[in-house]
Amino acid sequence: MPNSTALRDALTQSPNNLSLLLLYGRACLEELHLDEAREVFSRALEQDPDQTDAMLGIARVLFMEGDTSGAAVRAERVIFLEPTNAQAHLLLSRVYLSEGDRPKAIEHFDRAAQIDGTMSDPALERELGRTVRDARKTAPAPAPEPPSQEPQMAGGPDQDEFFEDPFDDPPYDWRPETFYAPGDPERGNVTFADVGGMEELKEEIRLKITYPLQFPDLYKAYGRKTGGGILIYGPPGCGKTLILRAVAGEVPCNYLSVGLHEIFDPYFGSTERNLHQIFETARANAPCVLVFDDIDSLAMDRRQIRESQMRNLVNQFLHEMDGIRSENQRILVIGATNQPWALDPAFRRPGRFDQAIFVAPPDAPARAQIIELLAKDKPIAEFDTTELIEATNGFSGADLKWVFDRAAELALSAAIHTGQPVPITLELLLAVAKAHSPSTQEWFEGVRTHAQSQEGPNSIFNDMRKFLNAPSNTKKER
Ligand code: ATP
Repeated sequence: MPNSTALRDALTQSPNNLSLLLLYGRACLEELHLDEAREVFSRALEQDPDQTDAMLGIARVLFMEGDTSGAAVRAERVIFLEPTNAQAHLLLSRVYLSEGDRPKAIEHFDRAAQIDGTMSDPALERELGRTVRDARKTAPAPAPEPPSQEPQMAGGPDQDEFFEDPFDDPPYDWRPETFYAPGDPERGNVTFADVGGMEELKEEIRLKITYPLQFPDLYKAYGRKTGGGILIYGPPGCGKTLILRAVAGEVPCNYLSVGLHEIFDPYFGSTERNLHQIFETARANAPCVLVFDDIDSLAMDRRQIRESQMRNLVNQFLHEMDGIRSENQRILVIGATNQPWALDPAFRRPGRFDQAIFVAPPDAPARAQIIELLAKDKPIAEFDTTELIEATNGFSGADLKWVFDRAAELALSAAIHTGQPVPITLELLLAVAKAHSPSTQEWFEGVRTHAQSQEGPNSIFNDMRKFLNAPSNTKKER
């Protein structure tokens, strides 16, 4: 193979020569210039979106970078276009092996060997404990099931030029029920003032959607865009659902809260279609905030998914979110989960959820705010909240709510039995709080293993890890 310098020189003379581009891309791969290889293969795909060598080149780059799910989706697409592409089967075999799925790795290795008896991959043969000759002696296995529908590209923005949207053509009437225009009486009147703490998250939401609408010229002058993606994650009961509801009362634009029951549909292909329709509704009504609670049910890690239908849904979701789609401008997508480790890593790429915010149990100032909110409109004796704030260290907002609800029940019961109004006192609240263990403890106990398995400078877990390691977060909070 000629070296990449000679090929790059030749390309300067003939920049659009597809064969040269492919040769240069392969040379870059061999020399491990991965970024250059990706760029060159993308240029080849701009010329011919169905160029399978270029697609496979990008799949190899992704595999080398450790993105096995991105590599798998591209290799599957190559097989969809060319079922007898031995190299794509070979790459899929490597992908499955690295994901620990040995039977699937063997299935694709055998298929590659049966298609091309001259191929050779000694390293893979060693790892599988199987030679090309063994594979060819095995009765030809039925070809691995081709993808049930055209696989959709799920990786970086460089790939979108060859994603064909299966829902572009047919008109489809379904509209999500949970779309609200500003001023819609059913939209709810909860605002950020009803949510204690979370100042960073509140400001981030304002920066991405409220201020751009209030100060469009300023945003233009600074070259800042409206919208984007924010993922919020953290233990249960800490107000993720509450803040998603509060966004409706806060932002001066359309709001669409996606109910999972609205999306899932037993008919094949309908779930992806519904998801597409939700994004279409948001695009047609931009500026719009699109909210997904419990996003882990829709955005699962494809390495853990075995049914092709679910995998197609995740691919569809990734495609809908892609920042390169200019129509997504002025849409803010907010997803919430208490299982961030279950999400497909591809959702964290630029242009999708590029910001992840950890919603921790409320700190002392946030607990003070929540206590004040919970005490509002209740028969509560005047008291200094300092002691209660101290006694509820590590409690979630839901735990605090439980303390107030339980204390109100006890005071009410006393009022019924004495026939006298009985206020909720500090002593009563403290007694209830002391008998209660923070409900987030179990989550923190489980989370350490997941946090360790996803170490890395850009890991989604970094601010959660910081929280876990901070000495001020006492044992009670863990
Ligand atoms: P899950 O992950 O289980 O869905 P969550 O983080 O979405 O939990 P919420 O359902 O929003 O938690 O919280 C439950 C209730 O706790 C809220 O309806 C509210 O009454 C109270 N609460 C939680 N956090 C706050 C907060 N920061 N400010 C005010 N109330 C809160």
